[in-house]
Amino acid sequence: MMNRELSLSTFEHAKKIIPGGVNSPVRAFGSVDTFPIFVQKANGAYIYDVDGNKYLDYISSWGPLIFGHNDEDIKSEFIKAIENGITYGVPSYVEVEMAQMITDAYPACEMVRMVNSGTEATMSAIRVARGYTGKKKIIKFEGCYHGHSDSLLVKSGSGTLTFNTPTSLGVPDEFIKNTVVCRYNDINSIIDAIDDDIAAVIIEPVAGNMGVVAPSENFMKELRKITRQKNIILIFDEVITGFRLSYGGASQIFNIEPDMVCFGKIIGGGLPVGAYGGHKDIMGMVSPLGKVYQAGTLSGNPLAMSIGIKTLQKLKDNPKVYEDLEQKAIKLEKGFKENIKRLNLDFKINRFHSMMSLFFTQKEVNYYEDVQTSDVKLYAKYFKSMLEQNILIPPAQFEAIFFNTAMSEEDIKYTIKANYNALEMINAQ
Ligand code: PMP
Repeated sequence: MMNRELSLSTFEHAKKIIPGGVNSPVRAFGSVDTFPIFVQKANGAYIYDVDGNKYLDYISSWGPLIFGHNDEDIKSEFIKAIENGITYGVPSYVEVEMAQMITDAYPACEMVRMVNSGTEATMSAIRVARGYTGKKKIIKFEGCYHGHSDSLLVKSGSGTLTFNTPTSLGVPDEFIKNTVVCRYNDINSIIDAIDDDIAAVIIEPVAGNMGVVAPSENFMKELRKITRQKNIILIFDEVITGFRLSYGGASQIFNIEPDMVCFGKIIGGGLPVGAYGGHKDIMGMVSPLGKVYQAGTLSGNPLAMSIGIKTLQKLKDNPKVYEDLEQKAIKLEKGFKENIKRLNLDFKINRFHSMMSLFFTQKEVNYYEDVQTSDVKLYAKYFKSMLEQNILIPPAQFEAIFFNTAMSEEDIKYTIKANYNALEMINAQ
């Protein structure tokens, strides 16, 4: 058994002074029936806990670390940037550079505003969509997570799915009465829900927060068609997919131009960042140009902009990164599938480009209700076995695993072996 004593005692201490001992719920490892690792440091593809254990890291800070931890170029950019000060509160050139890079990569974003998190990005985009259309209601999809702002905390994914709390205490009914929830991947559910008061539809263009569920191309095309016909703002929440699936994100892969796009952590290279953008007429509503108020003391922070720009520049200069990530995902998928077959098991793997999830269910996973047939107890056993074998995967079934370029062929091979051992152990029980 791995020694995790210091993590455990740190957790006990943390629980006394931080709710649940953590600053974001899934980190408590509660749904996988254990206690969290507390990190000492991280480098490349690996993360090290306070007890000195080393793990191959498939969380990658939930997405932003495309080049792994402590990438040399990004680290030196950070050190260079900090020489010029930490925050200004007045405009700086790097903000313009970042906006230029985003608007160049996403035709839907003629203008973009920086914020500090994905939550802020989606919350603000919805405010703008409502301000622009003068309409009240929004449509979201069950299983999609868009951060924790009040009006979006209905039947969302990620931690809320894990903890089976589709809504949260503290959100008055009045806040969510204008949020209509539809079925992901089902165009008829949109057709049935649309009325004259729908301002926006917000969607994860590839769902990552109920585990990976990709929409059908037809669903996406129809969604674009209907929203255009009905003057509804289509918002792509590309907090996970943006600059990760491809440089132009899911918008580019589906060849669909939404009206607005939200970004998150990736464009900050791992520092707390978000952004929302859209067509000029829509973004013209944002204060001080227009009458939709939105602001932020630390928005466009120069450190975050600098390493964000560096991250995007590296992605732009090396388009092969996307192939590399996908190849790793393909290899892992193939290895996992062979393991499942060899052990006479029947579990499902969803992979879309470099996004991937293993579901502990016999059912094909195309809809939210399919996701819910997953056996979370089996996932917990699987997680713990992988952890014992020094592999850190998301501590919840309803998440994606994240690849980074620092992972080696050997790492992937080792993961396939560990997956076999974990599944064999599950099978034997
Ligand atoms: N949208 C999506 C698709 C996300 O996955 C997340 C969080 N992972 C958010 C929004 C919220 O981002 P943040 O945690 O930075 O507030």
